Amino acid sequence: MTIHRTLHLSIIGCLLLAGCGAAPSPTNLVILSLDTTRADRFGSYGYSSAHTPNFDRFSAGSVRFENAITAAPITLPAHTSIMTGTYPVFHGVHDNDGYVLDDGITTLAEILASEGFVTGAVLAAFPLDSQFNLDQGFASYDDDFQSDWTTAENRARTPLSFGFLERKSDRVNMAVERWLDTNASEQFFLWVHYFDPHQPYNAPPPYDTQFSESPYDAEMAFMDENFGHLMEMLSSRGLMENTIIVVVGDHGEGLGQHGEPTHASYLYDTTMRVPLWIAVPDDEFAAGSAVMSQVRTIDIAPTVLDALGLAAGPEMQGNSLVPLLYNPNHQWNRDALLEANFSWYHYGWAPLRALRSDRWKYVLGPQPELYDVSDDPEEMVNLIERLPEEAAVLNQRLNALVEATAARDLGRSAATVVDADTRLKLEALGYLGGGGDASIRVAPFPGPDELADMVNPMDQWLVMTFANFASEMARMQRIDEAISIAREGLAMDPGNHRLRMVLARVYAMRGLIDRSFEELQAARALQPDDPESYVLAGHIRMAQREFQQAQDEFRQAVERAPQVSAHVFNLGLAYARTGDFEEAISHFQAALELDPNSDNAIQELAKSYSQVGRYEEARESFQRALELNPYSPSVLYNIAVFYRYLGEDDFSRRMFQATLQVAPGHVAAACQLAELLHADGAHPEEVQSLAERTIELAPDSPWAERAQKLLDSQP
Ligand SMILES: [Zn+2]
Repeated sequence: MTIHRTLHLSIIGCLLLAGCGAAPSPTNLVILSLDTTRADRFGSYGYSSAHTPNFDRFSAGSVRFENAITAAPITLPAHTSIMTGTYPVFHGVHDNDGYVLDDGITTLAEILASEGFVTGAVLAAFPLDSQFNLDQGFASYDDDFQSDWTTAENRARTPLSFGFLERKSDRVNMAVERWLDTNASEQFFLWVHYFDPHQPYNAPPPYDTQFSESPYDAEMAFMDENFGHLMEMLSSRGLMENTIIVVVGDHGEGLGQHGEPTHASYLYDTTMRVPLWIAVPDDEFAAGSAVMSQVRTIDIAPTVLDALGLAAGPEMQGNSLVPLLYNPNHQWNRDALLEANFSWYHYGWAPLRALRSDRWKYVLGPQPELYDVSDDPEEMVNLIERLPEEAAVLNQRLNALVEATAARDLGRSAATVVDADTRLKLEALGYLGGGGDASIRVAPFPGPDELADMVNPMDQWLVMTFANFASEMARMQRIDEAISIAREGLAMDPGNHRLRMVLARVYAMRGLIDRSFEELQAARALQPDDPESYVLAGHIRMAQREFQQAQDEFRQAVERAPQVSAHVFNLGLAYARTGDFEEAISHFQAALELDPNSDNAIQELAKSYSQVGRYEEARESFQRALELNPYSPSVLYNIAVFYRYLGEDDFSRRMFQATLQVAPGHVAAACQLAELLHADGAHPEEVQSLAERTIELAPDSPWAERAQKLLDSQP
């Protein structure tokens, strides 16, 4: 315990325990996580081309950590480490795909909720969807990525992009504002997630043209603008004076360095070194200074608990950084454990582990690497041959650290089945998966001999780049380029299941269905037991409105992985589309038994009930959907339609209004609200403005025709 720390705790203590001095108010906590954000792209971290004025201003009022290291270069494991204060070898979440955080692990949100904090999270992308169980402890966990989309944006989505998997930071802010309006009067913990710098790099104007040479920097600039708005939201509510604010990257982005286009496969500082700022509401802390010592993202949870005067969770493996907040030069020396398992699970290449200290990074893989990161921050010179003794010492330290931190149960957070639907969604975000074997997810890290015989992922960057590039082109709707790149990659590696799946998807997007199915056949020949090709085939048939064939494909997926809720749900949806609502109902019920929180299944179940006249059950299901997701435009809209159908116009009108409140660009809601008001005869001006809005938003739609009729019949 240092003097600084004691002093500081008494000050925060004052804030917590009313009665000592002025304006005693409880201290809140905001953690903002920046996905895919490199530390070295901020002005405050020395980037000369930066356009990050809001972050730089925040940096001037907080402590900046120059060498903050994440635990894994991929979203779900990295965030799980932040939110539990433990390494992946302990919490057991090693990938976005195939893991559901064990209920027995205590999260920061659970601790703060038990201390009486109101807890909320607003997420920006599917890898943090509540199905992966990082919502433990959050009273509200907003992963409705579709809310606040405009109709034009809705219409631009293709069926094969799998709906709404991410939202930009301006939309995240809208949800944050709603949450603060409801909750900021109590002591709160709010986690906000921004996803903008993640692929695809498609920042909106003016940043797209202003930074046309560097689309990644364009996303950074766009995110910076919204960070500024977020800070305004807090300060206009007077919350800056009593809120601890942590801003942290979950991992970086390769941007082509070391041959890595994005992230997840390697352990270089391009993806492992993240931005980290902490600001506490205390005049005494060292605002504006930088800490040079290495710290880890697992230190964040113990730090904020300490700053709030609370003890760290008993399992937490990080250390409180509070001493560094008061004295940036405080003696500090902690190793960091790093892991990259993605290539192992998805390509069968070797996994990597590394130990990083203030001076060294030792990477354990088929060909170990050693860098002097203090002298060679870009990791250009591998010293492994030159310094074998140093490497041997670091190898021992790495093994000891794993030994000290790993859980005994390797499979504690591993899912036992392959959820092909989830994987396709992750792939649509650029996480090119594959590999149908779930058992690898509970396998121990390979021993030295086994490891030496495995393929070194560092040698595979070309195949990785082709697969990534093809998928990226597909996401940008540059289909011809995607097809030719994927075919080039397959020419190099014809047995690559991943590339076959990418090609199947892009052929389908181009409308070349036969060729798409040829690729799916080839993929099935490579991995017959994997449900993924059947799920994709089912989605393609649904997009073609061939619902009978879609049933056949989804049924094959269910046979291969019957415990996966999404597979059963898909089959139910295909039944509903053919009008077989009784079959649909039984499948939606089965999907809900597997995953009681599946809001898709609840909504579709409610709609099917109402189709067959089981109105009471429909009412109950809609009620449940609303409880799970009170701000979801699709839930609100479907309820409105249902009650309109029942003739309960007053309630229906209120639900259409609520829909438009969360999604002002919802065309169908605008049009139907106009119709209801018109029938009422009391609100001609509102009818006119809603009808005009409908026509403006979707001029070629049937809704526009209906709106025009209203306008024509207005007096
Ligand atoms: Zn991420």
